[in-house]
Amino acid sequence: MRNGVDAGRLLAADRAAVWHPYDSMPSRGRVRLVESAAGGRLSLVGPEGSSDTVLDGMSSWWAAIHGYRHPVLDQAISFQLGRFSHVMFGGLTNEPAVVLSESLVSMSPDGLEHVFLADSGSVAVEVAMKLAIQYWRSVRPKEAAKKTRMMTWRGGYHGDTLGAMSVCDPESGMHSLWTDVVSEQVFLPPPPPGFSEPVDPAYASLLREAVRDQADRVAAVIVEPVVQGAGGMRFHNPAYLRVLREATEQHGVLLILDEIATGFGRTGRMFAAEHAGIAPDIMCVGKALTGGYMSLAATLCSTQVAHGVSNGEVPILAHGPTFMGNALACSAANASLGLLLSSDWGAAVERIQGGLQQGLAAARARSGVADVRVLGAIGVVQLDHPVDVGAATEAALARGVWLRPFGDLVYTMPPYVVTDQEVSQIAEAVVAAAAAG
Ligand SMILES: *Cc1c(COP(=O)(O)O)cnc(C)c1O
Repeated sequence: MRNGVDAGRLLAADRAAVWHPYDSMPSRGRVRLVESAAGGRLSLVGPEGSSDTVLDGMSSWWAAIHGYRHPVLDQAISFQLGRFSHVMFGGLTNEPAVVLSESLVSMSPDGLEHVFLADSGSVAVEVAMKLAIQYWRSVRPKEAAKKTRMMTWRGGYHGDTLGAMSVCDPESGMHSLWTDVVSEQVFLPPPPPGFSEPVDPAYASLLREAVRDQADRVAAVIVEPVVQGAGGMRFHNPAYLRVLREATEQHGVLLILDEIATGFGRTGRMFAAEHAGIAPDIMCVGKALTGGYMSLAATLCSTQVAHGVSNGEVPILAHGPTFMGNALACSAANASLGLLLSSDWGAAVERIQGGLQQGLAAARARSGVADVRVLGAIGVVQLDHPVDVGAATEAALARGVWLRPFGDLVYTMPPYVVTDQEVSQIAEAVVAAAAAG
């Protein structure tokens, strides 16, 4: 490597000491070393020191929407670095955190007025669940002893901490391994697939009746709106979200929308809830919040929820991460939101959607392919068998693209800055990876 670091030595040390996400120790697959990243591209170095620059088809898991080393983001962080990086948030505040909270309130669906800054998506989900349970304990102390469950549909993913795990799909979340450890929640069948498929009235009634019948033990319904991400990359008709909104409102249950993957334009709307024209009581954001620069997430809530909790018998929310309101992360988020709002992100996402639809169509007729779907800047090829991740990754890299398939899925959510030509290159790589995997 240019800076003299020995790639072979690092990769060997990585294998000996470093645990990777959803992996064994040592890793079950091959891990690649990133030397540098700029725009939509990553430079990967092999153990022998050979370097290869590839397009990032994953946006580092939904996050790097503006690409890497964006001058505006780099500069915002450098500027904040020259003031201070972090100060505690108990009893102190800082400009980047206040500005960010104001922005989130003004851009999010109506009624979300208050912001709890968390340090990762999973923590934002924990905070959302705690808020919901504590809300009922505060406003209806008599009934609330029983109102402690979350209700969700299957196929979801909400993070990896124990509380978040409890509302992940029981099968892909491996609940059997965690019996008696994660809380038992109320699961409904998964939403019928397809963003533009007609509404299934039987499923809509099932949602309505489940909320009505279990309102006495359910504090909140928590779902990912429109796109279920890591639980299977499935899309559903936004009308089901309206059904949930109406039923929860009618029966005294809160609605939590987890927009950690879908937020900030990815599905073609700023927030996926806008496809349904609804606003939740509590909303979680993360992933693309800092443009992929740093770990930061937030839980937004309505005044009803905030005041309910704050006027209860225990009038505080007992949660406060050490790095809450981190000024560097908040300054990155402010720069990222500024870039997003001053750009024509809607046109960029639509352009990527068109390119993916066109490019992935080739996979449709292939044997082994169960489904091809595109929504916003998300493209998915689902196979009828588990992907051979190693072979699929190699096939994509041979076409100059980094992908990270899982389960039976080869999928992409590129940075919004990719050109039309790069979108077709990514789509070709997805098709090739699906054929190889
Ligand atoms: C990634 C994700 C999370 C968890 O976020 P982390 O930052 O990885 O803890 C929660 N919910 C959804 C929908 C996600 O996609």
